[in-house]
Amino acid sequence: MTAGWTEGPTEKCGVVGVSLADRDAARPLYYALYALQHRGQESAGIVTHDGFQQYDHVGMGLVGDAFAEADLDGLRGRVGIGHVRYPTAGSVDSSCAQPFSVSFKSGSLGLSHNGNLVNAEEVRDDLEGLGHAFTSDGDTEVIAHDLARNLLDGDLIRAVRRTMDRVHGSYALTIMHDDTVVGLRDPEGNRPLCLGRLDDGYVLASESAAIDVLDGELIRDVRPGELVVLEPDGSGYETYRLVERERTAHCFFEHVYFARPDSVIDGELVYEVRRELGRLLWEESGIETDVVMPVPDSGRAFASGYAEAASEARGDADDADGDGADIEFAEGLMKNRYVGRTFIMPTQDARERAVKLKLNPIRSTVEGRTVTLVDDSIVRGTTSDQLVELLYEAGAEEVHMRIGAPPIVAPCYMGINMATREELIASERTVEEIRERIDADSLAYLSIDAVAEALSRSRADLCLGCVTGEYPYDIDGEATDRDVNRPVVGDEAAGADD
Ligand code: AMP
Repeated sequence: MTAGWTEGPTEKCGVVGVSLADRDAARPLYYALYALQHRGQESAGIVTHDGFQQYDHVGMGLVGDAFAEADLDGLRGRVGIGHVRYPTAGSVDSSCAQPFSVSFKSGSLGLSHNGNLVNAEEVRDDLEGLGHAFTSDGDTEVIAHDLARNLLDGDLIRAVRRTMDRVHGSYALTIMHDDTVVGLRDPEGNRPLCLGRLDDGYVLASESAAIDVLDGELIRDVRPGELVVLEPDGSGYETYRLVERERTAHCFFEHVYFARPDSVIDGELVYEVRRELGRLLWEESGIETDVVMPVPDSGRAFASGYAEAASEARGDADDADGDGADIEFAEGLMKNRYVGRTFIMPTQDARERAVKLKLNPIRSTVEGRTVTLVDDSIVRGTTSDQLVELLYEAGAEEVHMRIGAPPIVAPCYMGINMATREELIASERTVEEIRERIDADSLAYLSIDAVAEALSRSRADLCLGCVTGEYPYDIDGEATDRDVNRPVVGDEAAGADD
């Protein structure tokens, strides 16, 4: 895949891997994928190994639709990996569904990838020159072929190390080589990956919610540049810090929007981070209104932190005695749970209709009142524009929008499907121009510094590409925010040895 996400399907996904002592891996993987469903709804797949051969099943749609009982029964073995794939605007194509699996001279390989390489084309060209034939245009296959080639003359750890020297970009991977499952996080730790302990084995997953669902215990995040190798008999794991960089590039948007609020990522409970972002939003740009309400579900934790800070600021945090002094925190929009994410609607008209299908105002909460509406982010502006209008139609006197992230001004090349620069409402507009467009009484976003504060990290250790337009990777035509060494692909001398 190329750097630009508009040019083809991209991988924005959930990954998992397990190694168990004495039961089949298929069902635990299936449950874990359910827990990661929010990270991808286009396809789901599992690959297992029973010590002799690899078994796989990949299906389109939600996890519940992709697998029948018989499919799970056919997935033999105590080790395996799984994947849910995020929807993309255009193509819905089963050739890109994962895990990607392949058999080659020195064994079988399965790969589940979350993230996006920005030099996949170079590596692909190089491999094609060496005789490799590709079946998809995805970057995961590029990693698979590179690894397969390196495995011909090295062990798994050495092979992974060599592949890491050639690929550039974001990758959180679970890989199965024969019956060994490993987890690998790119040197910047852009996408999340964590390690957990089960009663009878170990698990690697994009988010800790997948460990919870298996009654497991979160051990820790896989470190940036670290390879974690699970013992095939579920008895333990070994770790290798293959690449260590001074700075990380954790994606802040995982905390803002993408991850589940009940997951712990890089040591922080996502729900608490979102509440803190909401509190800081009040501190930076709070406005007193009769009611504070979230855009469900994405704005909930932000709005609760915001409303709490607003009440504290008025000194009436404990004032629930009905004297009218409380700032009311209420649900003013009801969500229809059966409508999918509006984001993947192919046309603007369909997206606008979908917002109405998805959210309906509760008239009694808004009628004749001033309202603060809190959401996590504005991307194209469709949701905010529609919601402001809906709230006025329902009788709101004023509508003030507060957003728990900075304006998104540039695309994500690292695996989150956002939009092209042209589609992003903030790419060429000031906040005041956006306010006019969505027709709100006021609009305020959170600052980048507040994001860093809520995540307890320095700005330098975050990937802020979509809000600064400067990236932690060397992407064609884009600026970088640090010294980046893009690998010279084809130069075998460069970094080939441990
Ligand atoms: P928009 O209507 O284009 O401005 O999108 C903003 C809404 O989409 C917000 O309610 C966000 O919670 C949600 N959102 C933000 N980023 C994404 C994404 N990458 N995929 C799907 N939805 C998103």
